[in-house]
Amino acid sequence: MNAPTTSSCVKHLAELVRNSERTVALTGAGISVPSGIPDFRTPGEGLWEKVDPMKVATIDAFHRDTRAFWDFYRPRFDLLGDKVPSAGHRALAELEERGLLDAVITQNIDRLHSAAGTRELIEVHGSIATSSCTSCGCTWQLDQVADLFDPDGIATCTSCLGKVKPDVVLFGEMLPVAAIERARELAETADLMLCVGSSLEVFPVAGLPELTLEAGGRVAILTIGPTPYDGAAEVRLDGDVAEVLPALVAAL
Ligand code: ZN
Repeated sequence: MNAPTTSSCVKHLAELVRNSERTVALTGAGISVPSGIPDFRTPGEGLWEKVDPMKVATIDAFHRDTRAFWDFYRPRFDLLGDKVPSAGHRALAELEERGLLDAVITQNIDRLHSAAGTRELIEVHGSIATSSCTSCGCTWQLDQVADLFDPDGIATCTSCLGKVKPDVVLFGEMLPVAAIERARELAETADLMLCVGSSLEVFPVAGLPELTLEAGGRVAILTIGPTPYDGAAEVRLDGDVAEVLPALVAAL
């Protein structure tokens, strides 16, 4: 038997989406690579290549040496801030618009799903869209944070002078409980989970497809490279998600 071609896989996937009552997408760094945001796990290309994120991008480092934290994080804000959604982000927003997708669960912090128009979005690692004061809880939008830096390069609250932190989950921080619970609930009730651009290795997100499978749902994998769920997947597409997802939309 010949290996299934990409177009036959896309057709099969379109059929699964059409027949599914509740479809949920789970996305990782791979969907943002076509937007010019490198996957930090790709050797030699990562945003993290020059520094050890375990030293600077942790919650401990934020409190211990806030200046070093912002020295590291501020250029990331600038880099991510002007990026635009890929054809993959836009395809998922269109599936939702057409009533074919219930929600997107993402590990990404780049806010490109909301920029693409996805409404039901669960950002389990938070987002750079906002930053908040760690003392009084005051919140600022991404484009306002630049005005908060004091002469030492530390983002400082304008009302209480507390330290301002991006609303992303840093190493050593707990994941947001409500977002994780919602993600688990969506996974458990999905007939179909589209896993897009994620190697499905980082827990607890890596455990979500298992919940869908245990509840009798199906899983489709759209990513480059292997995942622990390849054997259990109904469809496995190894191509560029910025091509595969628009092809899926076109097939529906
Ligand atoms: Zn404050």
